[in-house]
Amino acid sequence: MKILVHICCAPDAVYFLKKLREDYPQSQLVGFFYDPNIHPYEEYKLRFLETQRICKELRIELHEGEYDLEGWLGAVKGYEEEPERGKRCELCFDYRLLRSVEFAGEVGATHLTTTLLMSPKKEFLMLKESGEKVCKGSGIEFLALDYRKGGGTQEMFRLSKELEIYHQDYCGCIYGLFKQKKGEVQWDLLSSGGRRPGSKEELLFLKEVRLFAEQELRLPCREWEFGFLNWKLLSGKLEVGGEALPSFVRPYSPSIRGVLKADPLEKVGNTIYYSRGGLRVVLMESLKDEPLELFDGLCEPTFLVPAEYEGLLLKNRAVATLQTSIGPDKSILLLVGSQSAEEIEFLPADTLQDCRGISLSQVKDILLKERKDILKGSKAYLFAGASSLGNPGVRYFEKRTGRKVSPLVCSQTF
Ligand code: SF4
Repeated sequence: MKILVHICCAPDAVYFLKKLREDYPQSQLVGFFYDPNIHPYEEYKLRFLETQRICKELRIELHEGEYDLEGWLGAVKGYEEEPERGKRCELCFDYRLLRSVEFAGEVGATHLTTTLLMSPKKEFLMLKESGEKVCKGSGIEFLALDYRKGGGTQEMFRLSKELEIYHQDYCGCIYGLFKQKKGEVQWDLLSSGGRRPGSKEELLFLKEVRLFAEQELRLPCREWEFGFLNWKLLSGKLEVGGEALPSFVRPYSPSIRGVLKADPLEKVGNTIYYSRGGLRVVLMESLKDEPLELFDGLCEPTFLVPAEYEGLLLKNRAVATLQTSIGPDKSILLLVGSQSAEEIEFLPADTLQDCRGISLSQVKDILLKERKDILKGSKAYLFAGASSLGNPGVRYFEKRTGRKVSPLVCSQTF
């Protein structure tokens, strides 16, 4: 017996696959991640990566289906406003399971099932009917397994937590995103250049590092989530003499209401102070963003501008606009190696506003080179999210574990 398991996400799959293996010990299990409903693509990628991680852990062959978002949008057209568990969800199940049964035929499976059956928020009967409908006449039997019963749901949550699996906070599609997250969706839909603190890109990077370290190099990994005060730049412009200057904005600069017009008062060190609104301009050797080593609590609109504009800035009135947001957020720390290693070095997982930061291939090189020392316990590496905003993750780690960490000096990082 060969069972094709349609997989919707890692949390729903982890217990389901284990139980399925226990109940069908003689069967071959094949995973199929086919979820073009998931929006945006970064979220899709994140869920797929975590599915890859648990399938590798459980030694289950995994295939990825096509991300045919447009086909899925067409299939649910006209039902965008339906509530969860309504007609749109029925069509969504049909769409994903129909392709799954086709794929089951392609790989010679005799049975089909889906990890959607594990989700506490899905209608079991609706899924059963959908599975049976798409399998009709295909020669493939649908297994409507209710593993939620008998403490299955609790076990699923326990295992997800134990394995530090990313747990999404909405079902998957763009319509569910708007309904289930109630107004706080802009950051889910916006993708920034690089990996900004607390972003999906940053989390994706950390999960990619973990997948490589754990699965390819067999290194121990552990994650911690930490809360921090996130600062995000929405828009900003500094004009002098009618010319917009190339600039970056110092993190934790607050928004400017309307347009701020201010005159230069004095230059102290490399900073020009202005007559109004706390405006400051820091002159830089070249145009680049700089990480905050420590957030000093100063919250004034501050632009970083190349020093070649000093003369222009000192002679003219500045006109500034700035929109930023500050609020609580979450990020992740990933430790590769033992917490009791002789030495722990940290690397920022996020990137600066100008997208500078360590790349995945650099990380892979470092881990490959240091693998022996990591396994011996003489070294460990901490990948810290939100590092460009005053290193809150590193401070959290030091307090939480009582260990001191030092930054890894790497020529191509910031
Ligand atoms: S809410 Fe979930 S099941 Fe329903 S249509 Fe959206 S992604 Fe599909």
